[in-house]
Amino acid sequence: MAEITLRNIVKQYGDGYPAVNDVSLDIADGEFMILVGPSGCGKSTLLRMIVGLEDITSGDLLIGGQRVNDKAPRDRNLAMVFQNYALYPHLSVFENIAFPLRLRGKEPEDEIQRKVRAAAETLELTEHLDRKPANLSGGQRQRVAMGRAIVRNADAFLFDEPLSNLDAKLRGQMRTEILRLQRRLGTTTVYVTHDQTEAMTLGDRVAVLRKGVLQQVASPRELYEQPVNMFVAGFIGSPPMNFVPALVQDGELVLPFVRFPMSDGLRAAVAERSLVMVGLRPERFEDAALLDAAALQGGVRFRTRVDVIEWLGNEQYAYLPYDVPAGTDRQLQELARELDSERMRNQLVVALDPQSRIGADSDAELWFDPRRMHVFDPASGDNLTLSLAGAGAGVG
Ligand code: ADP
Repeated sequence: MAEITLRNIVKQYGDGYPAVNDVSLDIADGEFMILVGPSGCGKSTLLRMIVGLEDITSGDLLIGGQRVNDKAPRDRNLAMVFQNYALYPHLSVFENIAFPLRLRGKEPEDEIQRKVRAAAETLELTEHLDRKPANLSGGQRQRVAMGRAIVRNADAFLFDEPLSNLDAKLRGQMRTEILRLQRRLGTTTVYVTHDQTEAMTLGDRVAVLRKGVLQQVASPRELYEQPVNMFVAGFIGSPPMNFVPALVQDGELVLPFVRFPMSDGLRAAVAERSLVMVGLRPERFEDAALLDAAALQGGVRFRTRVDVIEWLGNEQYAYLPYDVPAGTDRQLQELARELDSERMRNQLVVALDPQSRIGADSDAELWFDPRRMHVFDPASGDNLTLSLAGAGAGVG
């Protein structure tokens, strides 16, 4: 068991571009830490530096309080589980799990037998010990790979997108298995994924990376409720948060489909800005027809055109096109490019209760609570409403 500390870690490959840029992170003993971000954000590079497969350009890496920058991978006592499992096809499940122990060459045979059988028991692989990897399901192969990590009694487990080769159903099952196993063993775990469901469900904390730079490290709930910027806000949540441009005029916030007075707190947060981005999660909207007068109090109601409805049984999504405020187009397009996103599509996505009778190609009256919205600086993307009470900003 060990804590892992990263201090100002930088990785520059040959071309000089920093793949990992000044990342500092404290991973506690026994913690399940997720590294998440879009492809190319540097998460695998970070993991490979921790395990020792990649040199660290600058900064300090400490495992259990000891600086290990210059230690060979085999001297770091970490166990890595790869995406392709890296199993030996000609060896049985037993021998695959025993492999790291035999490699060490010091372990007596009865000790190897005991450890492999104990790991197989934990992973429910006992009845498959004589089989070859080719004859196993994807999930079973995954468990063999984990068995190999367990028998080594490593200080930490490192996972590099371990589930990305599996189909959706198996991925869900394995996710739960990994979580159970980690809880049972209490081993420090660093887990790389680009999948936000894995990030949100597995992690004690999640570190969100973008272009080599750490954006936010927080519990899944905090990432969802208090994202520090538009990048994190747009990355966490499905369907993603709506970003709607808004003008600030005479103490009011002017969205393309509604205008309403700002609370004092929001006014202070917005300061001198004349244009902001409002972040509204699809699930924060309601069909006003389903709410009583008390529920409608304190929120904002607006009429709008719905063009498409997707009804999924347990929920439904409505799509509402809108026009951006005049004069904001260019700034918005620059912002969209900067964020590499298609989120600025001039349409609102709204998750409605399945009871809602709002139809496609019709007018609808919707409701949202402005205290649950986020307001971002359009240039930096920073969340201006973090300091306000609750998750967002209040109306006056
Ligand atoms: P992720 O795992 O988040 O997809 P990586 O850590 O693999 O991202 O890559 C981060 C950045 O570093 C990318 O721009 C990638 O092209 C670059 N990179 C990764 N490996 C190498 C390498 N061996 N040589 C040069 N550049 C690399």
